[in-house]
Amino acid sequence: MDAAREKAVLEAVPKGLFINGTWRDASGGATFGVEDPATEQKLVEVADGTADDARAALDAAAAAQADWAASAPRERSEILRRAFDLMSERSDDLALLMTLEMGKPLAEAAGEVSYAAEFCRWFAEEAVRIDGRWSRNPAGSGRLLTMRQPVGPCLLITPWNFPIAMGTRKIGPAIAAGCTMVVKPAQQTPLSMLLLADILREVGLPDGVLNVVPTTKASDVTGPLFDDGRLRKVSFTGSTPVGKKLMEQASKHLLRVSMELGGNAPFVVFGDADMDLAVEQAVIAKMRNIGESCVAANRFHVHESVAEEFAQRLAQRLGEMKVGRGTEDGVEVGPLIDDEQRGKVADLVEDAVGKGAKVLTGGERVGDRGYFYAPTVLSGITDEATLLREEIFGPVAPVKTFSSDDEAIAAANASDYGLVAYVFTRDLERALRVSEALEVGMLGLNKGLVSNPAAPFGGVKESGFGREGGREGINEYLSVKYVAVDL
Ligand code: NAP
Repeated sequence: MDAAREKAVLEAVPKGLFINGTWRDASGGATFGVEDPATEQKLVEVADGTADDARAALDAAAAAQADWAASAPRERSEILRRAFDLMSERSDDLALLMTLEMGKPLAEAAGEVSYAAEFCRWFAEEAVRIDGRWSRNPAGSGRLLTMRQPVGPCLLITPWNFPIAMGTRKIGPAIAAGCTMVVKPAQQTPLSMLLLADILREVGLPDGVLNVVPTTKASDVTGPLFDDGRLRKVSFTGSTPVGKKLMEQASKHLLRVSMELGGNAPFVVFGDADMDLAVEQAVIAKMRNIGESCVAANRFHVHESVAEEFAQRLAQRLGEMKVGRGTEDGVEVGPLIDDEQRGKVADLVEDAVGKGAKVLTGGERVGDRGYFYAPTVLSGITDEATLLREEIFGPVAPVKTFSSDDEAIAAANASDYGLVAYVFTRDLERALRVSEALEVGMLGLNKGLVSNPAAPFGGVKESGFGREGGREGINEYLSVKYVAVDL
């Protein structure tokens, strides 16, 4: 990759806070560095927002709320549609920026930009379909009128693993519904969000509707917003422990809450599965985003009659994947986000091996620069292995066997999380029975990828609640009002 082009893309990104339609420095002038996880080098410095800045952002959001709620749905729709067009036009720059700050290979970054832009297009189409009901009450003595209105100013907190799609999945429906917002991007990947904010400014989003405050002090900066009665909603994508903390804070003013939290996806392969398909989809379910995804297959439960074949074939595929900086040609696996994450992945592998697992491929760091870890397949996983219960968030595939359908279902459900599961079988009855029995918000049937802007994304149990995308997504940003009519 051309170093001059990387430099140009980095230079073009705004590095300030975006408040009330303008770019500004942090109060006090502090900045922080954003690192390339493939080189461990600092890329640029970005304004480090303070609690005062967050308050100014909420001031702007609160001041803009009434006019924005009253704006024509078509106007909001057209803004989102133009954002889709401009994101698509600037896809190469957005993708390169994302690869630089997050590490995923360029082709995957371009895929995320397209996925993110699709949320703008999808919610452009939803903005003009916000409706209510008119009905006669059952006693026939009056009429029921319902309307759906914007919730009000929102706080949107996003993670580093999908730096732009986790943004538009919230910003898109908030704009469509007529809500204003304060966005706090992850400190490790603020650049994609800053460029997105500039695109939304360019396509005519009114001042104050969107405000973005990067910071290294997430809790200190967003905490006071929960004490301010003007904030009406928090939507969070991130880890379950932080989600729980935010729920407590949200209880103070009983905010509307959406929680897209961690996962521990089981990938279940029955003895009758199409093995070519199962292996191909396992590579996607495990390796997309370097395994750093809430919907990543975290544990493979495979029928004992095919487990060895499955594990060997998966090991061969993962062992052939090219590891390197995401900007280089042919690279399929980038670095992990930081040394801490790589250390966590290495510890989980060591723990599993210590408890009886066998390494079929990988199981080690790669290189001495950048946070690379080799794609890894482990067989012979025992019940005691910690990675069965924890989110791995890395390129490690543990394979465990089962001998009956009931055992597979029990093993798949043996988790505090319930985001997604993947099921591979050619038996329709089994597929439907297992789909009903699994405790998850989403399920991939003979498919290793479920994410789609037109589908309701979200979990159950400790993976949270609320749905993003689909027809359901906009409801997170609307309140229903009922009017009893004497007629
Ligand atoms: P994280 O540590 O929970 O951080 C997520 C965001 O919350 C970041 O912006 C972070 O800021 C901020 N944050 C952390 N502590 C906070 C606090 N006390 N108050 C306010 N904000 C706070 O999660 P992560 O490591 O970035 O992301 C990985 C997690 O996200 C995984 O568990 C993954 O499964 C989950 N995830 C879920 C979905 C889904 O849709 N269900 C999608 C993607 C990811 P800093 O950057 O400053 O720490």
